[in-house]
Amino acid sequence: MKIDILTLFPEMFESPFNYSMVKRAIDGGQVEIQPINFRQYGVGKHQMVDDTPYGGGAGMLLKPEPIFEAIDEIDKQTSASKKRIILMDPAGKPFNQAMAEDFSKEEHLVFICGHYEGYDERIRTLVTDEVSLGDYVLTGGELAAMVMIDATVRLLPGVVGNEASVVEDSHSTGLLEHPHYTRPAVYKGMEVPAVLTSGHHGNIKEWRHKESLRRTLQRRPDLIDEMELTTKEQEWLDE
Ligand code: SAM
Repeated sequence: MKIDILTLFPEMFESPFNYSMVKRAIDGGQVEIQPINFRQYGVGKHQMVDDTPYGGGAGMLLKPEPIFEAIDEIDKQTSASKKRIILMDPAGKPFNQAMAEDFSKEEHLVFICGHYEGYDERIRTLVTDEVSLGDYVLTGGELAAMVMIDATVRLLPGVVGNEASVVEDSHSTGLLEHPHYTRPAVYKGMEVPAVLTSGHHGNIKEWRHKESLRRTLQRRPDLIDEMELTTKEQEWLDE
C-alpha cells in the first residue's frame, strides 16, 4: 500500500510512524508513507496556500490551486493506480473500524490535511471520502490522518503478529472486546474468573462472547441496537 499525505507540516509525521506496528509495516515493505508539503505548489513567489473568504468572515481558507496541483503530480507518478482521496474534515463521516477495514483493502490512499478555517469548496470535487475523527475541532488534519493511518495499517496482512487479535479487537466484530486477565491468578484479593483457568475452551469461548455482549450493552448500547441478536444472546443479556 502507498499512502501520500498532503500537509503543510510534514515534520509532524517523522516520529509517530517510527514505532511499533506502523514501523514494522514500513520496514517490511507492506506500506510506503510519504508526507508531501503542498506549499511547494503554493501560488506566486510567496507560495501562498491560503486566502480570505469571498463574502467576508473569519479566518483563512486553503486555496484550490496547491491541492489540485499536488494531486495532479501524484496522478502523474502513479497514473495506473486507483486511489482513495480522503479529506480530513470535522464535517465528514465519522471514522470507524469498518472504514479502516475498507481503506486497508486499497492500494493507494491520499490524505488531505486541512488547516486554518477550512477548504475552498472546490477542493471537495477531488476527493472520494470526507472523514472526521470525531465531533470536535482540531487545529489541523494531521493528527486525524495519523490516527486513521495507524488504524488502517495495522490491518494490512502480516503487520500484527497474531492475526486473530485483530479479528477479535473491539469494533471488528461489531462488539466491544471481552475483559482480559494475565498472571497472577489472584492480585490484591482480586481473582481471575475461574472459567479462564479451567482449560475448557468451549466454556472460555462462550464466557468471552457473553462478556463482550454485556460490556457492549453497558457501554455502547447503540452498537447492540444495530445488531441482530440470536435467541441465546438475547437470553444472556436478559440474565
Ligand atoms: N472551520 C472548520 C469547521 O468548522 O468545520 C474547522 C477547521 S479546523 C480548525 C482546520 C482543519 O483541521 C480542518 O480543515 C480539518 O482538516 C482538520 N480537522 C479539524 N477537526 C477535525 C476532525 N474532527 N476530524 C478530521 N479533521 C479535522
